[in-house]
Amino acid sequence: MKLLEYEGKEIFGRYGIPLQKRCGVIRLGDSTDKLVLDGPGPWVVKAQVLAGGRGKAGGVKLAKTPTEARELALKMLGMKMVTHQTQGKALIVEEVLVDEACDIKREIYISVVLDRKGSTPTIIASAEGGMSIEELAQSHPEKIIKLPVDVEAGLLDFQARQLAFDLNIPQKNFREFTAFACRLVRAFIEEDASLVEVNPLVITGDDRLIALDSKIVTDDNALFRHKDLAAKPDHEATEIEKEAKEIGINYIGLDGDIGCMVNGAGLAMATLDTVKMAGGDAANFLDVGGGANVDQITRAFQIILKDSKVKAVLVNIFGGIMKCDNIASGVVEASKKVKINIPLIVRLEGTNVKEGREILAKSGLKLEQASSLWEAAQKAVAAAK
Ligand code: ADP
Ligand code: MG
Repeated sequence: MKLLEYEGKEIFGRYGIPLQKRCGVIRLGDSTDKLVLDGPGPWVVKAQVLAGGRGKAGGVKLAKTPTEARELALKMLGMKMVTHQTQGKALIVEEVLVDEACDIKREIYISVVLDRKGSTPTIIASAEGGMSIEELAQSHPEKIIKLPVDVEAGLLDFQARQLAFDLNIPQKNFREFTAFACRLVRAFIEEDASLVEVNPLVITGDDRLIALDSKIVTDDNALFRHKDLAAKPDHEATEIEKEAKEIGINYIGLDGDIGCMVNGAGLAMATLDTVKMAGGDAANFLDVGGGANVDQITRAFQIILKDSKVKAVLVNIFGGIMKCDNIASGVVEASKKVKINIPLIVRLEGTNVKEGREILAKSGLKLEQASSLWEAAQKAVAAAK
């Protein structure tokens, strides 16, 4: 799950990571009265979208007066943001964060990522942080520091000090920095994150060390350990994905036009690959789960057909614990409840497959059967065209 900047900063706050004072977060439709702009200013108004590069795209603005901050916040809400990280797509700004601004003397880059090859959390840091870190990593890779961290022990004192030396942290901020780095690593480990990034970490004109931005990505598989995170809305999920989640179907929307209904995540992945090999593109990943009963199959059809891109549906079900004849009856029952006006291709395999195919053949339903996944994929691709 990807967290917005202000959500990440709330987590940082719990770990004692130093932040600028927050003046408030407002949503589309909110009044700016919720903003507490009682300090001397200036303030910074920041678009809350799941992409970096906002600074260069007009999503981070400075305001000198409370009135200006309110005006900028209202103007930013509803804005479409395209940054170098959004792959050409525009993200709608639904929330805006207003923080107190600070006077920046130096910008540093620091993150903790999961190094899959080394199976260890790793700090990535650079003395020259800020908005051009991607370019720096390209042109001067030697300026990027990588430091593996023991997941049990966390960041050890000597490592934190070494990092401070390598980043040229001034003597004045040395202790503050080592404490910050240890807390950042602790946040990464305890929140089951796959990324925790602060860019920029700044040293202010009055020599304070502050995390000015936050990016946190957590592991969905660990959500059961984090009730607070699990209760948060998933900003990346589409409406269909949210609905599927509510009814217990594993569904992820994709860009193609062949709706896929499969039991088992592994088989679903194989189905996507096979559709691709046959020259098509799947509209979704959908795993109906182990006990694919009539109810689940009906709901899965409903979910798949909500996506208007879908031009054909491919059902690929392996009858293991569930028998193929039961599944076939399920498909027949479901298709009575859900109007399927597009080509339907069904491939059943496994226990009682003969009986299952017979039920489908006799059902009078307009569907095509296939005896192998390859055949089914080819038929679905042809049907969608
Ligand atoms: P992004 O990474 O999406 O571009 P940042 O939050 O890093 O957004 O902000 C971009 C730049 O704006 C920062 O590098 C910093 O120079 C400036 N900035 C961000 N927050 C503040 C703040 N509270 N005070 C002053 N400048 C800020
Ligand atoms: Mg940033």
